[in-house]
Amino acid sequence: MTMWHDSGNQFGPRSKWIEPGRTVEHVDTKRRIKNLLDVSGLTAQLKVIAPRAASRVELLRVHTAAYLDRIDQADKQGGSNIADKGTTFVGDGGYDIACLGAGCTLTAVDAVLSGDVANAYALMRPPGHHAEAERGIGFCIFNNGAIAAAYALEHHGLARVAIVDIDAHHGNGAQAIFWSDPRVLAISIHQDHGLPFSVGETSDQGEGSGLGYNINIPLPAGSSQAAYLETITRVVAPALEAFKPDLIIVPCGLDAGFMDPTARMMLSSDSFRALTAALMACADERCGGKIVFSHEGGYQIHTLPFHALAVFETLSGIRTEVEDPFLAASAYACNAPTQPHERAAIDQAEAAMLAHPPNASGVK
Ligand SMILES: [Zn+2]
Repeated sequence: MTMWHDSGNQFGPRSKWIEPGRTVEHVDTKRRIKNLLDVSGLTAQLKVIAPRAASRVELLRVHTAAYLDRIDQADKQGGSNIADKGTTFVGDGGYDIACLGAGCTLTAVDAVLSGDVANAYALMRPPGHHAEAERGIGFCIFNNGAIAAAYALEHHGLARVAIVDIDAHHGNGAQAIFWSDPRVLAISIHQDHGLPFSVGETSDQGEGSGLGYNINIPLPAGSSQAAYLETITRVVAPALEAFKPDLIIVPCGLDAGFMDPTARMMLSSDSFRALTAALMACADERCGGKIVFSHEGGYQIHTLPFHALAVFETLSGIRTEVEDPFLAASAYACNAPTQPHERAAIDQAEAAMLAHPPNASGVK
């Protein structure tokens, strides 16, 4: 049902000069992922879990009542764009669908924390990681990952949850929502000065008791697999080692893929495979392997399904017979070593993290 989310027929800034047409956050990207999972034979080997909808109480842990009412009103009016700028369309019936989307990630958290499954991937729409407490941004209505983190803390009684956002765009929503909260370590690896609304500097580290619990790693456009893996080794893994999370939630945007129209990063299916394995290793070492992936961006309809399949295969430990037909073409760019300017960016993020390490006690 979440695939029925209506994302409207406008894209970008409001302008009468843009001919209406399909926006990039469209059902086809997600449907094509599901289709490849099915024809590869992988779906039949996975445990498919029916989601429930997130309740108003669960949404209110992250969003304001006024914002929820605004979404409900947009729905009842037959649909409208709720974004201050850009496109975040709430269609007719969109409130309930967004609740179900957020509930997908909650269902995944339940399944992992109960031990029903080893890990989980919530494949749904609309995405969530740009949504803040009282505004929707960049196709995102409810912040699915942040709602799940708050749920894990409040409902399941966890002490600490880490969010490791690998979407090519900044995870501004979790940053804003947990800015002063040392119970959630919000990490974002994203394209430096990328689209659309905020840059996510290394100097954005939280404040008050939350200082050090927000880590941004803005990588230069063109960063490839080696830079991402070095970022995990030098910044993400040490931060998680200090923080000692009980659960890791990964807002999993695949728009760092090498052909994505909304970003300029250089990851292949093998890169996403390696990145997922590295994050799973962090979870194995720090929290008994408890990790939940929650789907975010990713818009290139031809390459995206292969990038998603690589993540699913790695999480499940099942390698299908599917071979990524784009892998050879992407190898030269995606397998480049870390470049000097990329290493400088990682150096800066590492120094910022070490200046204010996110220790588990919450005491500085
Ligand atoms: Zn994105």
